Amino acid sequence: MKRFEDKVVIITGGGSGLGRASASQIAKEGAKLVLVDLNKAALEESKSGILSETPSAVVELVEANVAEEKEVEKFVNFTIDKFGKIDGFFNNAGIEGKQNLTEDFGIDEFNRVVNINLNGVFYGMKHVLKEMKKQGFGSIVNTASVGGIRGVGNQSGYAASKHGVVGLTRNSGIEYGQYGISVKAIAPGAIMTPMVEGSLKQIGGDNWEEAGKEFVSVNPMKRFGKPEEVGYLVAFLLSNHADFINATVIPIDGGQSYK
Ligand code: NAD
Repeated sequence: MKRFEDKVVIITGGGSGLGRASASQIAKEGAKLVLVDLNKAALEESKSGILSETPSAVVELVEANVAEEKEVEKFVNFTIDKFGKIDGFFNNAGIEGKQNLTEDFGIDEFNRVVNINLNGVFYGMKHVLKEMKKQGFGSIVNTASVGGIRGVGNQSGYAASKHGVVGLTRNSGIEYGQYGISVKAIAPGAIMTPMVEGSLKQIGGDNWEEAGKEFVSVNPMKRFGKPEEVGYLVAFLLSNHADFINATVIPIDGGQSYK
């Protein structure tokens, strides 16, 4: 079954981790993809990976910074000009930022993280929802985090931004459900991507793999999630099978949030 035949899906942060894994899954199911990222080389790598798995895939690349509203407008307009509609939007690009106690958390770092993770998600929703409302259909998946539904510590900017993403999701889901549009968020736990590797290196330095083992020892499933496991969830949530799931947050964390 190809749930994305004739469907157009935009994915931000498509050059790595969760964005890349979701793109790969959705391409297998027939979507035309617009991948967005700051990193052009990473985008090219995602595209060649997808084409090697799915030679018939249609993959367009747009280099853009989600923290700049004009650049967000640019990739939304590009998609409409190219394909005439947006069926799905995985609003996913984000960073973790530096870890620090609240009293030591610099305002520049706080603003940097919030600008990308929260303002970036807001700009994406704003411009995509405008198009989806005209069409009368569409599905948006925002990437929040376990750190957006409970405290994890040492991450003031990240926690504020991801709790904000949950708020934006609930707010817009309630506003736009009447237009045939659903808005949901995912809350991943620790999924082994370059972002998590970077964060383990901040904690453990050269011994980051050991730090990783300690990190997952508190997870009920005693392991990291795999990017492709998130890809399966995102594909489901963006498909018509999940049209009635709206204004809510779905954890994918091995049970960590409920421990
Ligand atoms: P990643 O670092 O592997 O990928 C993130 C991608 O986003 C990169 O390609 C990066 O270049 C891009 N990006 C960063 N800032 C950008 C910007 N301003 N504009 C455009 N692109 C930008 O990380 P990931 O683990 O795949 O994370 C993806 C999302 O998932 C993030 O929002 C992150 O907070 C969230 N998340 C990840 C985990 C995890 O364990 N991996 C857990 C919870 C939430």
